[in-house]
Amino acid sequence: MPPKRRAANETSSTKKAKRKKSKPSGPPPHDKLWFSDGSIVLETDVHLYRVHKSMLAKYSTVLSDMFEIPSGDSNSDCWEDSDVPIVKMVGDKDDEVCVLLEALYDRNFGDTLHELEIPALTSLLSISTKYDFQDIQADVMQFLLTRFPNKLEDFVKTRNLWNSYDIDEVFALLVVAHRSDALKILPALYYLCARFPLETILDYLPTLPPDCMRSLLLGRDWLYEVAHRITQRSILSMQVGVQSRTDVTMQCSEKLRARLSESSITLVFDMPDRGILEGVNVKHSGICNGCTDRYIGLLGRLKAFYWDHLPQKFLNKNWKELNRT
Ligand SMILES: [Zn+2]
Repeated sequence: MPPKRRAANETSSTKKAKRKKSKPSGPPPHDKLWFSDGSIVLETDVHLYRVHKSMLAKYSTVLSDMFEIPSGDSNSDCWEDSDVPIVKMVGDKDDEVCVLLEALYDRNFGDTLHELEIPALTSLLSISTKYDFQDIQADVMQFLLTRFPNKLEDFVKTRNLWNSYDIDEVFALLVVAHRSDALKILPALYYLCARFPLETILDYLPTLPPDCMRSLLLGRDWLYEVAHRITQRSILSMQVGVQSRTDVTMQCSEKLRARLSESSITLVFDMPDRGILEGVNVKHSGICNGCTDRYIGLLGRLKAFYWDHLPQKFLNKNWKELNRT
């Protein structure tokens, strides 16, 4: 790898003189994303990437426009003894630039996406939005929707993943999704952020923009209120809905009340289909079949009802509005 850059207006003799210097002053070229026929060198704090201007311009309207404007800067850096310009990616993190270029040069990007962890997806969403790489952004959003769905049935199916998300990851994604107007994934994302203990959330609040912070806290408050309302409604469901209150139905509601008082508060979309009776044998629960069914039916309806209200509470928009974006 040739070691030294030169200014575009340097003479060939100074070029040669500089090339003889043994240590490059800038960051080293990336070992994979360096094409000898590349027509532009992108520079981050960590790496140099020699890629194709036409490739960048094809997928990014922002970069395409940028390339069309002559820089007018005769002192702009060029790579070695070539006319290949070096462009500093000011304000872009190295991992963002790297994951974006990998995506651009990956023929099987759709498959590769599935192997990416949340931090890489966050980087991709951030930089593809910034430079308007629409195709990549659309692919990333489509994939993120499988992790942070906009439909209740899909969201519940991702339940086994919820606890595998690291708090750093989800809060970083929340910030980027908020900034990138990735509205469709925001309700699920807010919900997952709200699930963390308040004490933990407080440590991350300073990383959020003020309106995002406000939405999270108010939405979280609503979710806890909902959890209490569901408890009340569940007990009531066993007392009403039958023609006359018999000793049996009163007994069922008392049994449920006892179980509820023993269980910790569970947020609405964390509740299993059978609620607090999940895994409990009907015979041993002391709650009759009729009451059990009524309770499960009620839970299902309440979940659907509160899912409809979720985006309104966190984003002041309904699902229809979000899904149009
Ligand atoms: Zn009963």
